[in-house]
Amino acid sequence: MFEATLAGSLPKPFWLAETNKLWPQWNSEGQEREIAKRDATLFWLKAQEDAGLDIVSDGEQSRQHFVHGFLEFVDGIDREHKVKMGIRNNRYDAMVPQVVSKLTMKGRAHPEAKIARAHTKKKLKFTLPGPMTIVDTVADQHYGDRVKMAMAFAELLNKEARALEADGVDMIQFDEPAFNAFTKEASTWGIDCLPCAIEGLKCTTAVHICYGYGIQQNIDWKNSLGGEWRQYEEFFPALAKSRIKQVSLECTHSRVPPDLMRLLDGKDVLVGVIDVASDQVETPEEVAATIGQAMKFVPKEHLFPCTNCGLAPMDREIALKKLDALGAGAKLARERYA
Ligand code: ZN
Repeated sequence: MFEATLAGSLPKPFWLAETNKLWPQWNSEGQEREIAKRDATLFWLKAQEDAGLDIVSDGEQSRQHFVHGFLEFVDGIDREHKVKMGIRNNRYDAMVPQVVSKLTMKGRAHPEAKIARAHTKKKLKFTLPGPMTIVDTVADQHYGDRVKMAMAFAELLNKEARALEADGVDMIQFDEPAFNAFTKEASTWGIDCLPCAIEGLKCTTAVHICYGYGIQQNIDWKNSLGGEWRQYEEFFPALAKSRIKQVSLECTHSRVPPDLMRLLDGKDVLVGVIDVASDQVETPEEVAATIGQAMKFVPKEHLFPCTNCGLAPMDREIALKKLDALGAGAKLARERYA
């Protein structure tokens, strides 16, 4: 019960890439870079195990960015000529690559899952960007229709997801922060793309929907959302009807009314008990208390303590302490509520 896990990313060590960045530059090239990625993956696997987490991940150490780390392996995209686009419903501008022809995979996007699998006996989780979030991160010069392009990405994601399953990954999570920016579209075509992405998978499937990393643009956006964040309310009912088994959401220190978790009846809920937008480290007592609160709305056998979002841009020493708090808080909750 209360199997603890992470939303996904972890900070990259200084010997692998620039620190405290969402889109860091690598510190080395070629073989040296590959070895550094592997070493960083092993470091974080050990740290998660030592913290007492039950489901571990590679911490996204082998990709530069949670969306572009996948897109790098997709053909049909012009990365040379980036264009400026407002993303997450114009929350901020980014220079994005353009889709210029039919999308196909160049090969495996994430062969590094095998490395993680070889070095832990714990359940292994792996994250991929969701179709809607990808579409909100590239410009379209070919499909002429966002839904069509999203479905094309969903097919490619499915290919990679099946390969990850064959590598021994236990949980595959699709990250869809765009759902909170486009709540109406999320409840229709955003969620409609997911069956295609998970088709044929026997492993556990999950969707992560958050209010973003703790970067300034997101903090400003959150401050504009008012006293209650009710975005989840618009698409959770549709998500509850889908075949996705788990939903990862923000909880602690957010203004999401916790009773919205009730809308996910029947799903495993990965409840954010660790705030990624603050460097203040939670105490195990606080983590256990958040789990206790969530138990009012989620049956305990469906409740998985998790982080609100990834920890990628965070200071690594703080991230380590937050992992410990998560593991210790989940243990305390098991003693208290089992
Ligand atoms: Zn997130």
